[in-house]
Amino acid sequence: MNRRSTVILLLAAAIFSLVLLSGCHRATPQPPSPYAPAWKAAFRSELDTLGYMPRYDLTFHISPENGWLDGEAKLTYSHREPGNWHALYFRLYPNLSRYGGSMEINGTTVNGTAVPITYEAHRTALKVPIPETLPPNQKVHVDIKYTLKWPSKGDGVYTEFGESGKVLMLPEAYPILAVPQATDSSDPKWNLEMPAPWGDVLFSQSALYKATVTVPKDMVIAASGTEITRTVSGPSATSVWVTGPAREFAMIMSRSFKTYTTEAYGTRVTSYFVPSDAEAGKVAAEYSAAALRIYSDKIVPYPFTDFRVVEAPLTYHGMEYPEMNALGFGLYRRQRYSLEFLVAHEVGHQWWYNMVGNDQIRYPWLDEGLTEYNTVLYYEAIYGKHGVPSSGSLIKNRWMAPYKLLVARGEDSSLDKPTTEYKAKDYEVLAYAKAALFFNAIREEIGDDAYDRFLTTYATRMRWKISTPDYLLSAVEESSQHNVKPLYDKWILGR
Ligand SMILES: [Zn+2]
Repeated sequence: MNRRSTVILLLAAAIFSLVLLSGCHRATPQPPSPYAPAWKAAFRSELDTLGYMPRYDLTFHISPENGWLDGEAKLTYSHREPGNWHALYFRLYPNLSRYGGSMEINGTTVNGTAVPITYEAHRTALKVPIPETLPPNQKVHVDIKYTLKWPSKGDGVYTEFGESGKVLMLPEAYPILAVPQATDSSDPKWNLEMPAPWGDVLFSQSALYKATVTVPKDMVIAASGTEITRTVSGPSATSVWVTGPAREFAMIMSRSFKTYTTEAYGTRVTSYFVPSDAEAGKVAAEYSAAALRIYSDKIVPYPFTDFRVVEAPLTYHGMEYPEMNALGFGLYRRQRYSLEFLVAHEVGHQWWYNMVGNDQIRYPWLDEGLTEYNTVLYYEAIYGKHGVPSSGSLIKNRWMAPYKLLVARGEDSSLDKPTTEYKAKDYEVLAYAKAALFFNAIREEIGDDAYDRFLTTYATRMRWKISTPDYLLSAVEESSQHNVKPLYDKWILGR
């Protein structure tokens, strides 16, 4: 070894020990969160604040030919309320008669110990006893194995759950933790209310999801969140998905789906459609991207990597899911003129349903009215306040005209009631149109700028939480210094 090599070796050793020493002083790096890919980079730090959220690890083995799936739902729940709990309740929404599915539980463990379960609420709820009781500030791990069969309906039939028109709708296809409400006794009151045949069914807490989905390899899946891996093995493909805070993990799939992708402020917007509806499918993506940008500017930013819009067997209706919307076949065809409005409405639910939740059965007007009125913001941004179509014609023709007809028929009523107490034929005029008119009256009273401040305040304060009318009113009043209780009494309570 010559002198030069010795110097180089000594230098290398010195640098190596410096690196080692500086390494010793560095804090142990946090492992990256498994949910990080679902977030745009600028918003990922929010994950550090969500340690309290329920976490689901779902596994689905889906057999479309046989009309059933084999599932496993693992939930890690941090109990942060008062009281020692003796049970957890889950909702089995597929067992609702309006869904027509059948979910059977095959085995349940709590912290690794097998427990006997009981069905309640016409088999739409599951009581899972906790062997040792669950004290506050403790975690519990629940593992539920189940099978799920879904109905197969004819082409052209409105299908919110099951298969129709070669599209398989699988929202809420696993046991979902019910919402606990603190009481004076040790255990909470679990929300097991039965939804009406109309309106939304789901009432849930925000949670973080990882889902592993195995399907035939030619199946195209649209789901909540971001697909992080996909592997093909023989005739099957397995994909792994993660979500941001989500009220559920929903899946819609078809072998016929083609896709088109666009972008909104760094969010990948993917549209799924059958090949004959490709033009409308592309337009649905662009409307969705525009709505995501407009509401991100007006309310708070949409923080997620992905958003999906899916052609589905919902006739001319739309349906919101976390990070995904479904729109009926009719909107891509004969009712194409309604596609833009329906997209603008459903995208609004990413804020008023997924971000700010509420009991959609007890207060259906709360998210529907706010979401319906969001479309005014969309139309003003795209077409101008006096453009064509104008937001004024929306208010006059879409909401005021049907509401006035209802009043003339003597059918006007309070909105302060659950969906089950509405009449089917009046439900949309009341919970959508009249509720949108309430938000229009607020905006006229407090002004456009204060209304924008209210939207931002409400979304920021109630982010990933469950709202009620009181939280809504206090956000309006704090953002505007106006007392809007008289408007609430008039439009919502009907006094
Ligand atoms: Zn809606």
